[in-house]
Amino acid sequence: MEKLVDKLEREGMLSRSEFTELLAGRKQAGLAAYLFERARVVRHRIYRRDVYLRGLIEFSSYCRNDCFYCGLRKSNTAAERYRLSADEILECCAQGHALGFRTFVLQSGEDPYFTDERMADIVRAIRAAHPDCAITLSLGERAFESYRILFEAGAERYLLRHETANERHYQGLHPSDLSLRHRLDCLHELQEIGYQVGCGFMVGSPGQDLDCLLDDLFFIKEFKPQMVGIGPFIPHKDTPFAGEKPGEAGLTVFLLAILRLMEPGLLLPATTALGTIDPRGREAGILAGANVLMPNLSPVRVRAKYLLYDNKICTGDEAAECRICLEKRVRGVGYAVAVCRGDCAGFKPVRVPLTGENPSDPKEMEKYYVRPEIPEGRGLYLS
Ligand code: SAM
Repeated sequence: MEKLVDKLEREGMLSRSEFTELLAGRKQAGLAAYLFERARVVRHRIYRRDVYLRGLIEFSSYCRNDCFYCGLRKSNTAAERYRLSADEILECCAQGHALGFRTFVLQSGEDPYFTDERMADIVRAIRAAHPDCAITLSLGERAFESYRILFEAGAERYLLRHETANERHYQGLHPSDLSLRHRLDCLHELQEIGYQVGCGFMVGSPGQDLDCLLDDLFFIKEFKPQMVGIGPFIPHKDTPFAGEKPGEAGLTVFLLAILRLMEPGLLLPATTALGTIDPRGREAGILAGANVLMPNLSPVRVRAKYLLYDNKICTGDEAAECRICLEKRVRGVGYAVAVCRGDCAGFKPVRVPLTGENPSDPKEMEKYYVRPEIPEGRGLYLS
């Protein structure tokens, strides 16, 4: 079985039957340990022992969608909804910057209140206040033009999990107005515009079988995202999936290591969901090749209202407490939090307008644009 791990490391891919064998043998003595060790070797070669932080700002819990798995779904009348103002979002960023965050992730349900104009103003304001930081958006499905406007305003990365690359499974997780085709179109459009793109899926979501997981792995290989977010599915009590079984931490971590060997340069978060299902889940993720953590920067008063699933961790902690706690956890497993933007290794730098304007003089241009650093892991560490 180790031979399959070696082949995956060497060739970056296995056939469907080889992946099936590897996943079926997951609990064989020594196999996971060997896979994780190889994933770490590959990860250290590219990202050394750096762990990149993303400051997550969950700025609206309103959502027009009705995904069967998600606590924010519009039919969940028990959910308390909130929106942060532009000033509150900027305040979160200022606090995050002081704590050493150099990437802000703005995430929300699909909330029509945040029009292109409102969103672009927010992105421009963050850019102006923190030109040394990357701005990541995770707003769900929008029109090509909308993605383009936000990119022009200064957002450089976009997270949009594909949720599952299997058509039948997608239909089982979503109402009929949402389609896998459209989700994938959005992902391709984001890539075309020049975003660093993250896709991803939940592990153990209802209806997911081995075939679905293989479809996910093959989709990721073909799509070539810069980031893949995977975390266990966790039921939410006020959704149609309330009574379903949660996904397994062990399988999630195993898949993280597979992804590291498949695409060595990926940004791979050890997710909050993984830390929720297993108190040592995020550490296990890092030891299996994950290199990103996404602590919450949202104001504590709204944290518990952005409940995608039950028992979500860190809903009561101030940003600074989360930061200290994560630093300890990262160090505890022999890694270090790196204070940098944490771009994807090898991502061709894109010139990103700081203001959305397009000055004609090339010298003037330099002032308006920043070039993302390619991480070398050189270490400005907080200690
Ligand atoms: N609206 C945006 C979108 O659709 O991409 C971003 C917010 S959405 C809530 C973020 C992610 O949370 C989803 O892509 C989904 O994978 C994850 N999620 C939602 N419900 C979950 C659950 N019950 N367990 C684990 N993850 C969940």
